[in-house]
Amino acid sequence: MTLHPLRTLALASLLPLAVGTACALPVATDAPALATGADDAVASTSEAARTRTPGIKLLVTVDWEGDDLLDTNLRAMEDFRAKYPDVRIVHFLNAAYYSKRGANPTTVTNSIRRVLKPGDELGLHIHGWKRLFEASGVTFRSGPTFWGTTLTAADCTRDCGHEVPISLYTAAELDKVMAFSVDTLAAHGFGRATSFRAGGWLAGETVRTALGDQGFLFDHSAVPSGFLAGELRGDPLLDWVKGLWTGTTASAQPYALEGLTEIPDNGALADYVTSREMLTVFDGAVTTLTRTPGAERVVSIGFHQETASDWVSRVAGAMDGIAQRVAAGKATVRYVTSREAAAAR
Ligand SMILES: [Zn+2]
Repeated sequence: MTLHPLRTLALASLLPLAVGTACALPVATDAPALATGADDAVASTSEAARTRTPGIKLLVTVDWEGDDLLDTNLRAMEDFRAKYPDVRIVHFLNAAYYSKRGANPTTVTNSIRRVLKPGDELGLHIHGWKRLFEASGVTFRSGPTFWGTTLTAADCTRDCGHEVPISLYTAAELDKVMAFSVDTLAAHGFGRATSFRAGGWLAGETVRTALGDQGFLFDHSAVPSGFLAGELRGDPLLDWVKGLWTGTTASAQPYALEGLTEIPDNGALADYVTSREMLTVFDGAVTTLTRTPGAERVVSIGFHQETASDWVSRVAGAMDGIAQRVAAGKATVRYVTSREAAAAR
């Protein structure tokens, strides 16, 4: 994922907040184990009911940019979690908060913890932050950035490099940054991530090689570039995403990729897509299952921690729309983590 603060702020001032009215989604339970004998009829009836109603595995993801941990964004996330208490979130956490100049590790840890809940998945997100790469023992590269620029020393007084593609680095360099990031987050109680999303969705070849080296199982970087086309028009980032994820559409499903399971971010992130667009992805999955009943389909939507106060309302709007569809019997929804999203069923 990426942030373009100037653009997101400009857009934020133009768009009304999505107003949500719904409550938490009903959560579909797992299908019962197959019964035998006298229970067969009951089992097959419930199986038929399950297969008639399209089942959606919903991933709600949050990218933690490694920039700041402002109260306003954390409060927006707390409010979202209070309103939708059943939602499980896949957090792509970032170790760069700990390598900021003057960072207080306890404050960082406590800030992140405010918005985590049991049942969430804690994955990893990496942007090309200078201080993170240097703390990992890697020489920083200053460009070309997402926007085609090269950073200068003046850009880097606090930290810099958010917009430097990590795919510019070798796999050996990324091994170090991933290992440092995982170790740092584990040392502060966040476990050892097995899922990943690259900054700017740019999980190029060296990134994927390093993910395999470091024992990651799931990558969530594939994204339909069309969702980014408006905001990123004319920027190198758009061309890079297009080139990397050619063929990734809003209906893309998990697939094997070089020893990893690639779980497409098929509904992208809220800075780039409206509630209505997220619902279009959801409805597309439902339509597919209506026409050809089969295993549940995965829909992935989400937002960024650093712009939660601006954009989490879009995810809330989508949740409300999804709740309406579930209430109308059009679909069932399970909130899932990477492992469940990747499972065949
Ligand atoms: Zn990001």
